[in-house]
Amino acid sequence: MPTPVGQRPSRRTPLRRAVLGAGLAGVLAAGLLTSTAAPVAAGTTAPTAAPTAAAPNISVANVRAHLSQFQSIAAANGGNRAHGRPGYKASIDYVKGKLDAAGFTTSLQQFTANGAVGYNLIADWPGGDTNRVIMAGAHLDSVGSGPGINDNGSGSAAVLETALAVAREGYRPDRHLRFAWWGAEELGLVGSRHYVNNLSSTNRSRIAAYLNFDMIASPNAGYFVYDDDPAIEKVFKDWFAARGVPTEIETEGDGRSDHAPFKNVGVPVGGLFTGAGRIKTSAQAQKWGGTAGRSFDPCYHSSCDTTANLNDTALDRNSDALAHGVWTLSSGAATPSSGSSGSSGRTSGNTADVSTPVGTRPRGLAF
Ligand SMILES: [Zn+2]
Repeated sequence: MPTPVGQRPSRRTPLRRAVLGAGLAGVLAAGLLTSTAAPVAAGTTAPTAAPTAAAPNISVANVRAHLSQFQSIAAANGGNRAHGRPGYKASIDYVKGKLDAAGFTTSLQQFTANGAVGYNLIADWPGGDTNRVIMAGAHLDSVGSGPGINDNGSGSAAVLETALAVAREGYRPDRHLRFAWWGAEELGLVGSRHYVNNLSSTNRSRIAAYLNFDMIASPNAGYFVYDDDPAIEKVFKDWFAARGVPTEIETEGDGRSDHAPFKNVGVPVGGLFTGAGRIKTSAQAQKWGGTAGRSFDPCYHSSCDTTANLNDTALDRNSDALAHGVWTLSSGAATPSSGSSGSSGRTSGNTADVSTPVGTRPRGLAF
């Protein structure tokens, strides 16, 4: 990895600076320079813009620890963490407990689906401009047939650990940060749709970006970046490129995860994904490793989607990329293309999709 820009030694070492200063003074005296910039006094450097805070490394061991908790919760509750089952509520309680202890303002939003109560967990980090909210989210429910550790304990745990890193660092971003854990995604994006449907148009327009993380540690991993908002896409692609990791645009999950309700009302969205049932090609195996001719996650929606069904390298990289996206967008270092400022100029988009009543979407559409 190249040395990060901020840590490179200044090319102007003291010796060089003295030589330059002397040369510069000579030239100035000759009146040859016409720059409009204030003349730089000999021996000093031009003031540079305050560097934006870089995201910390996200500890994959900590992310793994959350995943072990989700596994134990499933084991203690009939083998799953599905909507309407005790394993889901126990998962919510675990995540909420961590966030409350870290200083987040948390709220539980209830909804009903398939005759059972579901919950969305929303966590706001105090401070930042609430007219430009940066959101990162993941669904916390599993399917009924397994503990859902890659789908989607991986995204839920990485979003949680990033939120805890925000608190640990005492991060004070320009833009307001909000994290979300959605319920009943496996029933057809029910929780996130409920959240978006129940936002006033003003509050919807205050969301400057929504980042989604659904399946980010598939055992036969690929590196897919959502290609919805170009600026968000670039933030993630550049991060991977800087580490020599090739990426592809995400197509398998188009519209099949919790970013869809946000996108449908015009909120700029982005996210990361490592593949589900699709088969890895030999070209993909060439660049990413793993096994060609095998699906990215052979345990997708199955009882074997346990803590043994994870690719730690993918989990580590995607957790760090996630944090980088959160820090970059909330510090203002990057601005989503299609929605920068609060309310003006953004249409509420196509709501037809959003108001599809719960339970009519065929099952299995969601990830
Ligand atoms: Zn999923």
